[in-house]
Amino acid sequence: MFFHHKKLMYTVRVRQSDPQLATLMLEQFGGPQGELAAAMRYFTQGLGECDAGRKDMLMDIATEEISHLEIIGTIIAMLNRGPKAVQSEAMLEAEDMRQLGQNSTSHTEQILYGGGPALVNSSGVPWTAAYVDSIGDPSADLRSNIAAEARAKLVYERLINITGDPGIKDALRFLMTREIAHMKSFEKALHSMQPNFPPGKLPGDPAYTDLYMDMSQGGQDLQGSWNSGELWERVTDREAQAALDGGDGDYGVGLTPREQAAEDAMTLRTLSDPALRPMTGAELGAGPGSGALDLPPREP
Ligand code: MN
Ligand code: MN
Repeated sequence: MFFHHKKLMYTVRVRQSDPQLATLMLEQFGGPQGELAAAMRYFTQGLGECDAGRKDMLMDIATEEISHLEIIGTIIAMLNRGPKAVQSEAMLEAEDMRQLGQNSTSHTEQILYGGGPALVNSSGVPWTAAYVDSIGDPSADLRSNIAAEARAKLVYERLINITGDPGIKDALRFLMTREIAHMKSFEKALHSMQPNFPPGKLPGDPAYTDLYMDMSQGGQDLQGSWNSGELWERVTDREAQAALDGGDGDYGVGLTPREQAAEDAMTLRTLSDPALRPMTGAELGAGPGSGALDLPPREP
């Protein structure tokens, strides 16, 4: 069950109305790296989790993310509060309209959503469950959670950089810092499960786990621990990169007699004739710049 406390998790002091800034803040309300996505990610993972320790952590963090959603949503509502009231009760003046439409989505936010925090990103794209990429295995989900927290931290960092309001900066810094704390919890939880690599249960085929495929060639090849040294067998030769299984690298599938007959008919019907030199629309319309074409001989 859930409780609600009327106090925010962190104090929000907004200096003045700023609908454009409110629109940018929507990125962390209804965007892919935002707080709703984070809350739903951990809440659904927690529901499905069997391990008592991970379940507790996921539910704690999911609930905290909803509290973050409340903070960022409150910032958006405060930034929009004055314009919302003016739009509702006063005669809009030219300056109000100019302020509302200063970036591509702030007028939508103001006029269609009435200045309330809408579940959209800063470009007006509605929130979607597709932002949550859980796969139902802790060795993969915890890694994805770590990356999600890293992205959320970066978006906060960028929002802090474009905010002039010290009160908002302060609250965003808190939200950013909490994502660092969550990253640490997820890292610890991942490594509290031993082993956790490779993800899942099936082991990899030892014939291929230590191959480094040097497939991008023709420029500088920087070598480091990620692609050379005693952990790796580096495969640079182009021929050696094909048919790693030692087979012929060819392909095939077993067809039923009915499928085979149909494929034979289709192959015959769509056969390419390399002897033909057909005249095409390109020749019929050819002018300067057409390149080489099979033009018919011209009448003298
Ligand atoms: Mn958060
Ligand atoms: Mn977080």
